[in-house]
Amino acid sequence: MINEGQRQPVRIARFSIDGNVGFGVVEGDELDVIKGHPFAEFERSGQKVPLDKVRLLPPVLPNKVVAIGRNYAEHAAELGNAVPDVPVTFFKPSTSVIGPGDPIGYPSFSQEVHHEAELAVVIGRMCREVPRERAKDVILGYTCANDITARDVQQREKQWARAKGFDSSCPLGPWVETGLEPADIAAGLAVQCTVNGEQRQLGRTSDMVRPVEDLIVHITEAMTLLPGDVILTGTPAGVGPLNVGDEVAVTIEGIGTLTNKVIKRG
Ligand code: MG
Repeated sequence: MINEGQRQPVRIARFSIDGNVGFGVVEGDELDVIKGHPFAEFERSGQKVPLDKVRLLPPVLPNKVVAIGRNYAEHAAELGNAVPDVPVTFFKPSTSVIGPGDPIGYPSFSQEVHHEAELAVVIGRMCREVPRERAKDVILGYTCANDITARDVQQREKQWARAKGFDSSCPLGPWVETGLEPADIAAGLAVQCTVNGEQRQLGRTSDMVRPVEDLIVHITEAMTLLPGDVILTGTPAGVGPLNVGDEVAVTIEGIGTLTNKVIKRG
């Protein structure tokens, strides 16, 4: 739950219009174009563009997406797994990232592709070996993610690079919400997934086994995170199959909705 009235949400979208790409702050049904980029102090230009006239892009272009598996006990159990002592950590490549409204291409080498609605943490500054008390300082904000997974491939291949790293397997968006704090996440934001309007997943971020700060400590113990890198924090229970033609939507309380359609990969 979010403590209403304390903070103004600031939503930063990346967009294209007439062949130009930029960042803007979402204000109602408009974007206020920003000068520069959101990883430093930036100014709003005052130049407004209507949201329905732009194409929203993935809100960041990550150098890497670091994903955490089995971070909700009920989801671990539904696939017959225990919650691991050490977090399961894997990568999704930059080439797997797509934006809101972009198609998810069903890969030819799988017969069972699943949705996984997840809270995504967007990193705001270069960091490594981050102490827990500094973790919130390296976060730019949060967005919605769908950790699209070829479940059959995941089960038969030892590493998950193909199962979770194929092109278009990492929808991100619709924007980065910078007004949330780790305390809001710990208090429990609703994470929902619908397929063709029917609810498939509904969890709360308060049910994460390891909170966001712990994940940042764990990951940066091993590697440097760069501005725009993304951490996927795991999915709640209710994962299930997607079919060509389905429309899948991830909604996170206080952030927004990320919608993508599944197409046959050409
Ligand atoms: Mg996942």
